[in-house]
Amino acid sequence: MFQLFLPLNFLGFVYRELKASMANIERMFELLDEQSAVKDEGTAAFNLKGGEVTFRQVSFSYRDDYQVLDQLDLTIPAGKTLAVVGGSGAGKSTLTRLLFRFYDPAAGEILIDGQPIDQLPQAVLRASLGMVPQDTVLFNDTLKNNLLYARPDASDEELQQVITMAHLDSLVQRHTDGWHIVVGERGLKLSGGEKQRIAIARMLLKRPAIMLFDEATSSLDSHTERGIMDAIRQVSKGHTTLIIAHRLSTVVDADEIAVMDGGRIVERGSHVRLLSQQGRYAALWQAQQHQHQHQHQQQPDSGDV
Ligand code: ATP
Repeated sequence: MFQLFLPLNFLGFVYRELKASMANIERMFELLDEQSAVKDEGTAAFNLKGGEVTFRQVSFSYRDDYQVLDQLDLTIPAGKTLAVVGGSGAGKSTLTRLLFRFYDPAAGEILIDGQPIDQLPQAVLRASLGMVPQDTVLFNDTLKNNLLYARPDASDEELQQVITMAHLDSLVQRHTDGWHIVVGERGLKLSGGEKQRIAIARMLLKRPAIMLFDEATSSLDSHTERGIMDAIRQVSKGHTTLIIAHRLSTVVDADEIAVMDGGRIVERGSHVRLLSQQGRYAALWQAQQHQHQHQHQQQPDSGDV
């Protein structure tokens, strides 16, 4: 029943979303005209091992007049966590869009465990990836079904576990319907932080080989953020993980941090090593520390770090 219900409900959702954003659709078609749409023609068998991700000499632009990635080289070793930081518009989120094959690079290639991703069927590629995006899409459905979307066969115990890990217990307990509360469009309007926590719970349920977090904790207060980061650390252990973050306090514990600028990776190393290099990362870190101290002085009770 659920299997049938979900696609129908999803189509309804897509239809309403499309109607609501006709202006954006026009822009989307312009974009698709500009760049040939990504073709799902890969037929190779996927020999997924540890999930090592490699961007090799990747160049990409959305428009002719602005190169976003310029012969970028980047490897995320299997099972390790790499954080990518850099200024707004540096192209960090673009890395995740290329990995999902929403676009193909103009030059270079992207590989998982040595296999070019454009040789894989898209469904197979995407089954190995999980993403907590900046803006989470919720279906007009119960919280439970919104979570089951990530893995329809999950048991109630597994659902309860991820609800707790993603700090959604208080949301569930506040409502008499519990996890049957309807969220999204015509249901309960959730805050940005609550929506992100649902996306994190979906990821926890799916546990894909490769986990991508795009500003995953940007809408959370610092106390909740710390709790969620702990959960992310726990669940991403042994999974190849890419974290895109603005708040550097959230990436301190990553195995490595890569700094993006001018369409390339300009620095890479651990937090301690990058600080001692006194380069771009150190400058970003000092600027954020300064900003937080300033905020603290203005709002001594905020507790932000
Ligand atoms: P932020 O930290 O602000 O989220 P980012 O480093 O993730 O930024 P991207 O979202 O990867 O940056 O965008 C890189 C550049 O490409 C930006 O200049 C952005 O304006 C541009 N861009 C992103 N998406 C599109 C699109 N669909 N069409 C045209 N330009 C785009």
